[in-house]
Amino acid sequence: MDKVIITVAPTGNVPTKDINLFTPITPEEIAKDVYLCYKKGASVAHIHARDDMGKPTSDKEVFREIATKIKEYCDIVIQFSTGARGGKLEGRKACLALKPEMASLSVGSSNFPNSVNYNPPSFIEDLAQEMIRFNIKPEIEIFDLSMVDNAIYLISKGLIKEPAHFNLVLNVPGSLKGHPENLLLLKQRLPGNSTWSVSAIGRSHHNLSAMGLLLGGNVRVGLEDVVEIEKGKPVSNVELVDRIVGLSRELGRDIASPAETRQILALS
Ligand code: ZN
Repeated sequence: MDKVIITVAPTGNVPTKDINLFTPITPEEIAKDVYLCYKKGASVAHIHARDDMGKPTSDKEVFREIATKIKEYCDIVIQFSTGARGGKLEGRKACLALKPEMASLSVGSSNFPNSVNYNPPSFIEDLAQEMIRFNIKPEIEIFDLSMVDNAIYLISKGLIKEPAHFNLVLNVPGSLKGHPENLLLLKQRLPGNSTWSVSAIGRSHHNLSAMGLLLGGNVRVGLEDVVEIEKGKPVSNVELVDRIVGLSRELGRDIASPAETRQILALS
């Protein structure tokens, strides 16, 4: 099986230091945490930005600062989030002008616990076109089976280039549950030449990550997806990466370096 690409999603839009004291919020905290995760085996960093108050922001300058600092530390692949919790539609694509190697691309709408994962068709196409323009590899975010079919439609229209890369997000309250059958179904419906990772939220995290590894997929870990493994005991990004590296090796999967990741994902 291919080496496994470990993505770390250190911050997300939801965690705060009150929820988990290890949550990196400032650009410096995020860059340092990403570097420590890189040293443990992470080869992609999925980045969300926060403002001075610690609230989610799509401010391009904050993304720039985070990326600049990360690049001072290491050559990890940087992936910016364009997700719905980042704010108003127009602002969400601003960070693409910085030409990160990758960016997230949601291909449908769904619900988060307290808000809508709002991605209207024209906006999805606009984001996809911007990614082609700036030569950014999209990570297609899948929260529901219908989104796989919509991604295939976008590929057929030339708005997403093949081979496509998917992130199968499971167990977000309001979206597809973290059942093993759901992961298997999503995986089976992907175009055959795709690469994919699993991003299992909360309690489903470890088991579905293991299943993803066994199925030949890649894994995303980090406080964006899971803030504790044991009830009441906050976990750090570094611990989460360390844990998945150990599990990968136990299951016979070696860890991809950033250079190998660029090759596997056909990044240019
Ligand atoms: Zn995200």
